[in-house]
Amino acid sequence: MKDFKYEVDQDGVAIITWDVPDKSMNVMSLEGFAELEECIDKALADDAVKGVVITSGKESFAGGMDLNIIAGMKERGGENPAKGIFDGVMKMHAILRKIERAGMDPKTNKGGKPIAAALPGTALGIGLELPLATHRIFAADNPKAKIGLPEIMVGIFPGGGGTTRLVRKLGVMGASQLLLEGKLNDPKRAKSAGVVDEVVPPEELMDRAREWVLNAKDADIVKPWDQKGYKMPGGDPYHPAGYMTFVGANAMVNGKTMGVYPAPKALLSAVYEGALVPFDTAIRIEARWFTNLLMNPSSSAMIRSLFINKEALEKGAVRPKDIPPQQVKKLGVIGAGMMGAGIALVSAMNGIEVVLIDQSQEAADRGKAYTADYMDKGIKRGKATPAKKEEVLSRITATTDYAVLKGADLVIEAVFEDPAIKAEVVKKVEAVVGEDCIFATNTSTLPISELAKASSRPENFIGIHFFSPVEKMLLVEIIKGKETGPRAVAKALDYVRQIRKTPIVVNDARFFYANRCIIPYINEGIRMVKEGVKPALVENAAKLVGMPLGPLQLVDETSIDLGVKIARATRAAMGDAYPDGDVDEVLFWMADQGRLGRKAKAGFYAYDEKGKRLGLWEGLAEKFPPAEDQPDVHEVQHRLLMAQVLEAVRAFEEGVLEDIREGDVGAILGWGFAPWSGGPFSWLDMIGAGRAVEICDHLEQEYGPRFKAPALLRELAEKGETFYGRFTDQKKAA
Ligand code: NAD
Repeated sequence: MKDFKYEVDQDGVAIITWDVPDKSMNVMSLEGFAELEECIDKALADDAVKGVVITSGKESFAGGMDLNIIAGMKERGGENPAKGIFDGVMKMHAILRKIERAGMDPKTNKGGKPIAAALPGTALGIGLELPLATHRIFAADNPKAKIGLPEIMVGIFPGGGGTTRLVRKLGVMGASQLLLEGKLNDPKRAKSAGVVDEVVPPEELMDRAREWVLNAKDADIVKPWDQKGYKMPGGDPYHPAGYMTFVGANAMVNGKTMGVYPAPKALLSAVYEGALVPFDTAIRIEARWFTNLLMNPSSSAMIRSLFINKEALEKGAVRPKDIPPQQVKKLGVIGAGMMGAGIALVSAMNGIEVVLIDQSQEAADRGKAYTADYMDKGIKRGKATPAKKEEVLSRITATTDYAVLKGADLVIEAVFEDPAIKAEVVKKVEAVVGEDCIFATNTSTLPISELAKASSRPENFIGIHFFSPVEKMLLVEIIKGKETGPRAVAKALDYVRQIRKTPIVVNDARFFYANRCIIPYINEGIRMVKEGVKPALVENAAKLVGMPLGPLQLVDETSIDLGVKIARATRAAMGDAYPDGDVDEVLFWMADQGRLGRKAKAGFYAYDEKGKRLGLWEGLAEKFPPAEDQPDVHEVQHRLLMAQVLEAVRAFEEGVLEDIREGDVGAILGWGFAPWSGGPFSWLDMIGAGRAVEICDHLEQEYGPRFKAPALLRELAEKGETFYGRFTDQKKAA
């Protein structure tokens, strides 16, 4: 056996220790399941064994299921992948059910062996579903541990019995946050939520579990749902209270997801249908819905982008090979404004020493105070301590003195978006730092290769583009200038890993990748307003296709004057080829009215005095009246999606984007591109290149050349190929 160890102690308690070799956290594999079954069989068959404790040889219990395996089940199903998945899932259920029933007589519920789970730390996914199948869960009092079922976050639901067991243990209401939001709790909170049964001091964990096993009576190990007269807490669907809960849950899920995600729907169906039947049938229903979900292309695409490829990028899938580790020890941040302050915060939080420079001491101090405020909020919410705050703050030196930068191995500038100011900063920094120091700019619009001209070491010059607010946004876009060398890329990637964000690496071109795609989305929305499409239709169409914000709300958030500034600069750079005159007409008029967006409490939306959004601004209709005939919602959605997606394809065709995985992960994390789709390339694969070209041809004819199908898309359509089929070796994961 490889993943599980089996031993029997002097009191006759079998200890099954999960300890996957060469991994920092246990993950479940098919082989692992087979081993676990072998251990359980041995314990149940051995008369000398009185009971079992399942624990882990690591600090944590388990991180979950290896999702590659779930994807693999589909592959192995061959001609009938649904059967492959269903059979695989049912096999897993049989093992867990064997643990739960523990050899007891099916009629009398007597004679089983007590089985407890002892969790030293984090227990996620199958790492909690397995304990839920045991008779009692002990968790060590480890405030850093996370306990929960986060499957919904990657587009599936807990399909290892966790859904059925948790609902039967806690009721629909009690389980809803855990299942529908993937909420994770520390052990104490998990106990008060009813997920674990006991929280004990870490050093007593094994003894307490062992003691319980030795003293448990027959009745202690029969699950409520295996007892006569079991009633679901809070009521089943035909109980008046339960009925209300189901109606509410449906409304809540559809309100939050707009119905675009298959996982919450499948989850609710499994819960509802499962609640009407005995446990073993409910498990089969759960397995059927789980299979149905995995057969849905949206789930495969979400798993691929949000789990497999996101993790691959974080672990350095695109990092230049053969460059030794480049961890940052001392970071310089120039410009302590909105972005600089955020960059200092996330870096100091992750143990990096930061020198934060601005033009005046006051501005630098203000930047540092941002970290203090952030930590104060954390203390209030019980997520940080005053000691932690002091520790983080002690890593940040706020100053105006460039000499303090001496010894920095990475410097990031986030000063005003002005090439002359940036060039001056480059010179000042290079005068004090060593030859090896990498210089990064956080510019959002200026070409990296142009800014690098101010540097005497352009191979050490790179773009590290953060999104706002830095502490919340998970994506960081790394931009290679023409002369950027591999060590600079490795440094940027290692730094992003240190601050625990997800990187993509792109080449230098106007607006890089994310902004290049998001600006056309905003513009398409504004253009429709000019054409007379009702703003509510534009906004709702966007949300109904899974965009977190409609284009008009988005421009209100990022500010309309910024839009005007970008439009002016783009027009100046493109001259007669500038295509967005209609957009500017609306945007510039809004700016002239002083409606600059949320910060001015006036934009495409109306706001109250506190800045709370009230609804779309009615005054807009006077200047841009809605047309009599309104387009079909799908037409609006196709325009909004294609505006972004075609830009992504062009970025890939032009080599700005080097890897479609980065294109998909970057789109979801960078600007919230319809996560259910797995990203723009996954979406195109899902509808098929042929259908995509058809949509483009129609949109081009109706609305102009910006919708012309890129040559690459047309070629894929002609050959019947997909992006993931052609450009990655990841067909398996799909
Ligand atoms: P900001 O105006 O909030 O902050 C800029 C700071 O730089 C100010 O504190 C200013 O005093 C300081 N500064 C100006 N000249 C300086 C100099 N010579 N030496 C030292 N400090 C100087 O701006 P911001 O929003 O933080 O943006 C900074 C950079 O980040 C810009 O290049 C911007 O394009 C880019 N960016 C912004 C966002 C965003 O959403 N705001 C997102 C990504 C990138």
